[in-house]
Amino acid sequence: MESTNQIQGISFTTLAETYGTPAYIYDGQKIVEQVKTLKNAFSSVNLKIKYATKALSNLNVLKLLKNAGTGADAVSIEEVQLCLHAGFLPSEIMYTPNCVSFAEIQEAVALGVMINIDNIPMLEHFGNHYGKNVPICIRLNPHILAGGNAKISVGHIDSKFGISILQIKNILKVVETHHLDVIGLHIHTGSDILDADVFLKGAEILFDAARQFPDLKFLDFGGGFKVAYKPGDIATDIADVGEKVSKAFQEFCAEYGRELELWFEPGKFLVSESGFLLVSANVIKSTPACTFVGVDSGLNHLIRPMMYDAYHAVENVSQHEGPDHVYTVVGYICESDTIASDRKLKEVREGDLLVIKNAGAYGYSMSSNYNSRLRPPEVLILDGKAHLIRERETFEDILKHQVDIGL
Ligand SMILES: *Cc1c(COP(=O)(O)O)cnc(C)c1O
Repeated sequence: MESTNQIQGISFTTLAETYGTPAYIYDGQKIVEQVKTLKNAFSSVNLKIKYATKALSNLNVLKLLKNAGTGADAVSIEEVQLCLHAGFLPSEIMYTPNCVSFAEIQEAVALGVMINIDNIPMLEHFGNHYGKNVPICIRLNPHILAGGNAKISVGHIDSKFGISILQIKNILKVVETHHLDVIGLHIHTGSDILDADVFLKGAEILFDAARQFPDLKFLDFGGGFKVAYKPGDIATDIADVGEKVSKAFQEFCAEYGRELELWFEPGKFLVSESGFLLVSANVIKSTPACTFVGVDSGLNHLIRPMMYDAYHAVENVSQHEGPDHVYTVVGYICESDTIASDRKLKEVREGDLLVIKNAGAYGYSMSSNYNSRLRPPEVLILDGKAHLIRERETFEDILKHQVDIGL
């Protein structure tokens, strides 16, 4: 991961002067490049990319991805509405909810999107209500333990997601009873998966299940490609995954007797590296143990370090010269709020501009108003031009939905 102080020719310093700090900045070109990389890796099969909206759900990012040729994966009815609002066709949207009410599923059916069913009671409700009239996808739990952190490994045996592949007989019984039209099968093993073999293992499980469903149109392998967070970190070798999974997929389609669509739902892979969180150093505080840099942001804006022990590279944009010092970068939230521990940075002075990298995925979309702090603006750089795509919140937003009962 090389050091950067600009995006498409616009320096972080200029961006900070224009939009203030903290601010989320996204490199639109990088997002489009990632789509191309994925498409190239799977050029020999009928690939459909369903961008996992939850990673970064700004309307303009959704439109950018739509223009780049992706569909979308939505995990809530609100995300479905957002994707429709961004211009995705209902047929381009996959709705993959977990533990939602049947009423919400009915709403999604009415909107015309593909429904991915993740538990047997819901499959039964669906059968009773729609029978064979609405095609569906079924989310299977392949019982593979993979992913960078327990909180993001969702395909293992204790996970709440999907219907266990061990319950395939029960699924088939419900499908037969209600003549359900199953046109897709889905797995999503987790996030930060490195190895082509994990995807291949998932593929084999999916193929096995698929042999029992004669009317399939697609197989959906979920998301979870790992991106490089640390310098020298290895990312998923997409070309390698593409080659191996495509080959296995083609062999399966030949056996199945028909060419199916191969779906992926990447979130992180498409948007993580595009994102930068710009912050200012408020305080440099030396203790007998270490030197803290306190910045004007925290887990209210980027919760990944505290929630997933995620590593985000940090650089001091304001200083290029001199030796490195070791710092622990912390936020301003009243809570242990470490963004980065024991990092080498050029000497940090009060007011210096720092950049936190890989902040595109699960950054803004997981942000909150904790400590009654305002959420930062979002800025998208396209064709060398910066566009404000979300305003910084104001104190009005903190009060907005509060009801003063006149005490
Ligand atoms: C979150 C999620 C994804 C995206 O995962 P990434 O690790 O960001 O690629 C894909 N599919 C489903 C169903 C998800 O819940």
